[in-house]
Amino acid sequence: MQAALPTFADVADAAHRLQGVAHRTPVLTSRTADAMTGAALFFKAENLQRGGAFKFRGAYNAISALPEAVRARGVLAFSSGNHAQAIALASRLLGVPAVIVMPEDAPAVKVEATRGYGAEVVSYDRYSQDREALGREIAGARGLTLIPPYDHPEVIAGQGTLALELIDETGPLDMLVACLGGGGQLAGCALAAAERSPGIQIYGVEPEAGDDGRRSFHSGQIVRIPVPRTIADGAQTTYLGNLTFPVIRQRVTDIVTVSDAELVETMRFFAARMKLVVEPTGCLAAAAVLHGRVDVRGKRVGVVISGGNVDITAYARLVAPAA
Ligand SMILES: *Cc1c(COP(=O)(O)O)cnc(C)c1O
Repeated sequence: MQAALPTFADVADAAHRLQGVAHRTPVLTSRTADAMTGAALFFKAENLQRGGAFKFRGAYNAISALPEAVRARGVLAFSSGNHAQAIALASRLLGVPAVIVMPEDAPAVKVEATRGYGAEVVSYDRYSQDREALGREIAGARGLTLIPPYDHPEVIAGQGTLALELIDETGPLDMLVACLGGGGQLAGCALAAAERSPGIQIYGVEPEAGDDGRRSFHSGQIVRIPVPRTIADGAQTTYLGNLTFPVIRQRVTDIVTVSDAELVETMRFFAARMKLVVEPTGCLAAAAVLHGRVDVRGKRVGVVISGGNVDITAYARLVAPAA
């Protein structure tokens, strides 16, 4: 049976639960970016969120919404990225045991960060083992609740609180531009933005190599693609969710794409002009705005900077000028 679609009321509940727990991240402006685009841009800096990405919002909201007895048994996530760290951190804050299923070749820094938050890491061989089957087996045997990275009503609602905060601070906006992987961020932000700023245009931005969201949006059916090759590792999802897709279809204006080269240029822009370390995936929305993929001229536009978790060596290599 399909769970009910999340609504604005769920975003409002999430804002309550996150009050005093999630950072109310700053909204930044840049005269240079405004001059480049002819718009008034408001960047929501979720790279400065706890755990380094907006994912903390959804993770904490989902775990804290569980009934006490269910929550006490623990939660499980399979991810090697920001969702894993977010679940680990949120679990620690809520005093809940967490198991994270990660590939055995996951970057050591990520495994360490996850362990550092007190989660138990179970590794698997990504070439011979099915992580979902393994995750479900462990969850079943130990009575843990699986928290998926995007297709979950409380995860979507939690992510939406970032747009709520943004618009509460800026007042009504003409447009909101968000990143798109599996759609938790975009769906949640769309619920919040449509309520707080009626008539707002909402755009989602995907990596060019992984445009399943754009194709799904235009065809009206969830399109599945092979794992895309892109530096935007947080948006290497291969299909939208059963909950995120209908919300996106209903409320989003359009979905556009950007290239990896444009993401790198945007990382450099953030470093040089705004003194911000932003991971490749975190640059999706800004890259679309700075490279003219959406028509922002003369408009007041919210732009989500979704995360800043990037290995420092990889970061240095990406932002270094070509020799
Ligand atoms: C997960 C993630 C995304 C994509 O979010 P979805 O909710 O899956 O669409 C974008 N940016 C960063 C930094 C992420 O961690």
